[in-house]
Amino acid sequence: MRLDLTRAAELLERDVERTLGPGYGELIEGEMLAVAELARDDLAYALVENMQQLLHDEFIDTTWPACPRHSRHPLWYEDGAWWCTQDGVRIAPLGEVPAAPGSAA
Ligand SMILES: [Zn+2]
Repeated sequence: MRLDLTRAAELLERDVERTLGPGYGELIEGEMLAVAELARDDLAYALVENMQQLLHDEFIDTTWPACPRHSRHPLWYEDGAWWCTQDGVRIAPLGEVPAAPGSAA
């Protein structure tokens, strides 16, 4: 499933807020504007990938979003959803990533 970039940004913000708390809206908006310039056919994928990379690289959360099955590795985005690549299992659609126990929400 391919998402519209604006819709993907909304859902991504929901996931970030649920897991890391509020205050990342501007960051996501900035990434959205940067990604909108790209000549790629799946901009939603590029947005999620860039945001995830940023959270990892800035040490905001190096396993974001943490896999609820293993918690030691991040989930990966594919086809509008978050996946545990270790088990090859689809965990949740974008916008509905489960909050880790004890996290912000
Ligand atoms: Zn996993």
